[in-house]
Amino acid sequence: MGSRNERRHQNLVPLAALISREMRSEKVEKPTLRYGNAAQSRKGEDYFMIRTDCQRIQGNPSSTFSVFAIFDGHNGNAAAIYSKDHLLNHVLGALPRGLGRDEWLQALPRALVAGFVKTDKEFQSRGETSGTTVTFVIIDGWTVTVASVGDSRCILDTQGGAVSILTVDHRLEENVEERQRVTASGGEVGRLSIFGGAEVGPLRCWPGGLCLSRSIGDMDVGEFIVPIPYVKQVKLSSAGGRLIIASDGIWDALDSDMTAKSCRGLPAELAARQVVKEALRTRGLKDDTTCIVVDIIPPDNSPQPLPTPKKQNKLRALLFRKRSHDSANKLSKKLSAVGIVEELFEEGSAMLAERLGNDDSSSQSTTGLFICAVCQVDLAPSEGISVHAGSIFSMSSKPWQGPFLCADCRDKKDAMEGKRPSGVKVA
Ligand SMILES: [Zn+2]
Repeated sequence: MGSRNERRHQNLVPLAALISREMRSEKVEKPTLRYGNAAQSRKGEDYFMIRTDCQRIQGNPSSTFSVFAIFDGHNGNAAAIYSKDHLLNHVLGALPRGLGRDEWLQALPRALVAGFVKTDKEFQSRGETSGTTVTFVIIDGWTVTVASVGDSRCILDTQGGAVSILTVDHRLEENVEERQRVTASGGEVGRLSIFGGAEVGPLRCWPGGLCLSRSIGDMDVGEFIVPIPYVKQVKLSSAGGRLIIASDGIWDALDSDMTAKSCRGLPAELAARQVVKEALRTRGLKDDTTCIVVDIIPPDNSPQPLPTPKKQNKLRALLFRKRSHDSANKLSKKLSAVGIVEELFEEGSAMLAERLGNDDSSSQSTTGLFICAVCQVDLAPSEGISVHAGSIFSMSSKPWQGPFLCADCRDKKDAMEGKRPSGVKVA
């Protein structure tokens, strides 16, 4: 008995060492997330979503990723609720099966575009009139992917105190490019005029009178108010960082630097509450005000809030570096070692063809049929229309090249580009 026990014991020692070594190496790879949220409601149109249990491969815990999102509705809450309930599934449904982690992350920006457009199209087909902003953040390890329409901003606060904005504000008042796009697609941009002809308030687009140039829903507004998100993907350095996602109730009261500064040193749960408190103190409760704070914390570190920096933004220019294609991995390691956030992807075009690209490897379903790049339905061989057919891109690419769209999504694309009169109901 004794000798057998001894033998087993001898076997156990190296095994235990192996396990602990493996756990250590896994820990080095993945940061810990700590998060908190806070909200003050006035109209009841802000919604948020926190999911930390998503898996790329069902049943494989090492493929876990997290989603944090804010939906700021207008003209009712139906679009915000619908997006909260369906957007994640539509994005995941647009990702090809069986991808490894790196390919999955690379395919994410395009899947986000397809998922946003599909959600918009489906919601509009229900005939309800509300709309919503969406800021949708996917965190997988050190890689943060943000997709957004509207003006619910997401900022990143990193070690050293540099604050960067990971979204673009799709407000007609502030975005010249979007104003030009809306006008070119047949919309009118102007202020509300009151009796006597005086113009008041922010720039809005007509018909509809919305101040935003992108949203989900809003079928009573011209279809040039598109659901195509701005997408940014970054890889944090091993120092980690803090994300602050919030609706305009915060951003109308505080700028990005003030917001980051107001909660430094606090754990995520308290930080979210502090940001909301600070916004209310500055401006009062004028609008729904929602905030999510996510700390991405290096492993083997007790969750240490970011230190108060001595120099603000001196490093901002150094902070973002474009990924070079050839030596991506080597570069990535070097950059993360010196605490630099690496920019993996950024694209904000409102043109669907540009966003779906030329890659047709994923447009074939398992049955060998082509599928619609947006709504993922199977297409009959005669039915699929290339996303590039008849567009300005047909000069440089082939109209028979994928990805393909079903007739419905092709209609939607034309409407978004102002090639079909707005107000035509999407069946
Ligand atoms: Zn389709």
